[in-house]
Amino acid sequence: MNFVVRSKSSGNEYNVQVYSTDDGPVITCDCPAGENGQYCKHRFALISGDEREVVEADAQVREIAALVAGSR
Ligand SMILES: [Zn+2]
Repeated sequence: MNFVVRSKSSGNEYNVQVYSTDDGPVITCDCPAGENGQYCKHRFALISGDEREVVEADAQVREIAALVAGSR
């Protein structure tokens, strides 16, 4: 699943990708914090079902919560 999120504070757009692996769901973000391996606010927002900053999506944001709920 691919999502484009626009930051309210900076106006920059970031690509958030969600996919499942054998080890569980993986969520990546190409913002500076995400590339450092930190859990950035974009991913937290999507995990919690907050789609206010989503400008493009090829899936429902609520599908992320369902995916993450089944993992540790
Ligand atoms: Zn991010």
